[in-house]
Amino acid sequence: MLNAAPFARTALLARLRAQRSWDLAVIGGGATGLGVALDAAARGLQVLLLERGDFAQGSSSRATKLVHGGVRYLAQGDVPLVHEALRERATLLANAPQVAQPLAFVVPGYRLWELPFYGAGLKAYDLLAGRHSLGPTELLGAARTRELLPGVRRDGLLGGIRYWDGQFDDARLAVLLARTAISRGALALNHCPVDGLLHEQARVCGVRTHDAETGEAFALRARCVVNAAGVWVDAVRALDRDRDAPPRPPMVAPSQGVHLVVDRAFLPGQHALLVPRTRDGRVLFALPWLGKTLLGTTDTPRADAAAEPAALPAEVAFLLQESARYLARPPTRADVRAVWAGLRPLVRPAGDDGSEDTKAVSREHVVRVSRSGLVTVTGGKWTTYRAMAEDVLECAMTHGLLPRRPGGVTERLALLGAAPGRPLGDPPGEHLYGSEAPALRALPGADHWLWRDPESGRAALSEAMVRFALRCELARRLDDVLARRARLLFLDAAAAAALAEPVAALIEEETGRRVSAVERAGFAALAQQYRTLP
Ligand SMILES: Cc1cc2nc3c(=O)[nH]c(=O)nc-3n(C[C@H](O)[C@H](O)[C@H](O)COP(=O)(O)OP(=O)(O)OC[C@H]3O[C@@H](n4cnc5c(N)ncnc54)[C@H](O)[C@@H]3O)c2cc1C
Repeated sequence: MLNAAPFARTALLARLRAQRSWDLAVIGGGATGLGVALDAAARGLQVLLLERGDFAQGSSSRATKLVHGGVRYLAQGDVPLVHEALRERATLLANAPQVAQPLAFVVPGYRLWELPFYGAGLKAYDLLAGRHSLGPTELLGAARTRELLPGVRRDGLLGGIRYWDGQFDDARLAVLLARTAISRGALALNHCPVDGLLHEQARVCGVRTHDAETGEAFALRARCVVNAAGVWVDAVRALDRDRDAPPRPPMVAPSQGVHLVVDRAFLPGQHALLVPRTRDGRVLFALPWLGKTLLGTTDTPRADAAAEPAALPAEVAFLLQESARYLARPPTRADVRAVWAGLRPLVRPAGDDGSEDTKAVSREHVVRVSRSGLVTVTGGKWTTYRAMAEDVLECAMTHGLLPRRPGGVTERLALLGAAPGRPLGDPPGEHLYGSEAPALRALPGADHWLWRDPESGRAALSEAMVRFALRCELARRLDDVLARRARLLFLDAAAAAALAEPVAALIEEETGRRVSAVERAGFAALAQQYRTLP
């Protein structure tokens, strides 16, 4: 039997009205904030998480979808970092197997030195994984490389190297974290921006928020406030500042990464393609993902931290040109079904104004506690969200902001619905719901298919999936459903635009909320951005 009650917005808001005091308030519902909320809830703390938009609406829905140790960090000699990420890779794949699975990669070689050079590095990568290895690194002949990568450029191909990493559905994993946290007693609410911090005797003691749908305002007390606002952490830190004090140096330097989505026909088979060094020294991936091929990514510094960053013409040109060097059938602009950009929250070197205790936990992520007790965490990557959460809670406990509770509780904490799934290269479908699939099938419209993947003909989005998103997965708006639950906006933006009206009708029926003309126009503009190359 499906129990949607704990996820109903009315119930979540009723709890917010009833409970004004919390152990922990987390600002931001991306990978980082959700990881902290789940870990703290699993330790028995009273946890509130507030997200201004939808869960994973920021960077956490725009990743390359790799659960990885980071081959390039190994090349830089950062063994401890890779080791930690490889351990977390295994944990993530075990705890959410319906949305996170092993994926084999092939590095094609066109120059003699490439095979032994990359082969040795990738062998070391596998050895470092130890008992967490997902499969051996192997040297392949040219024929086997062509067999595993039917889409690869054949002329001059000398062979390849196969190695293993993981792949996931980032936004669906985020929603699973939110729902699992709720099922463990946390209150996680999307569409509730934090617009102020409460202070008492110069210490942070809570947050101000409002329900973006109704405007209802709340002032909520918390012993500890964690700022996990991704590339927007500096805006939240500014709320913590004395109005007369000079601004603090920013913690984050956003870096934009763009992905193009083309048909699976460009890279058939179950293997991903890795180019370890593009002409300008970057890493390029072509990955099978939810029935399509993802091409990515770029690394472009961006001073602005737009909510919907737009791809730049040079980024699109780079991805198409580099893909053309490795794919037998080079994708053209006309082949692109979706383009999307995300911002990496890269950590700047610590500010030297002495106002904060800096604890650089690793080169990747940083946890800082301000004089007023605001805990800010940023940087890192999706793969290590759980380890980051443990660092944040350890830091808060060390500073006396939270009662001490032993860690390690999320290491073997299966997320809701955890059950083995199909390869994530297959089009979306009921397999993504794991053990919740029977509950999904019991909903009205389980056999009413709104979208079929045109290439495979597979039924990929049903009316029941939309209802499930609205009843159980905390979706409220058109883009919540079509971008981050169904993923259609990321796969085929024109198809997503075509479904706006039927999905709006289901939103109105399921939630009783009217989808305004402004929301409809906003989604149409978003879909236009995702389907139009600059
Ligand atoms: C292009 C790209 C590719 C990547 N590829 C990979 C990969 O393959 N594998 C991997 O492991 N990692 C990858 N990453 C890194 C990973 O995606 C990020 O490190 C991670 O998603 C950051 O999560 P976050 O929660 O810190 O930030 P976000 O996901 O941005 O979350 C912050 C949230 O805070 C919210 N917020 C902001 N201000 C407020 C406020 N005032 N009140 C309430 N909420 C607020 C925002 O709406 C947002 O949802 C990639 C990143 C990018 C950009």
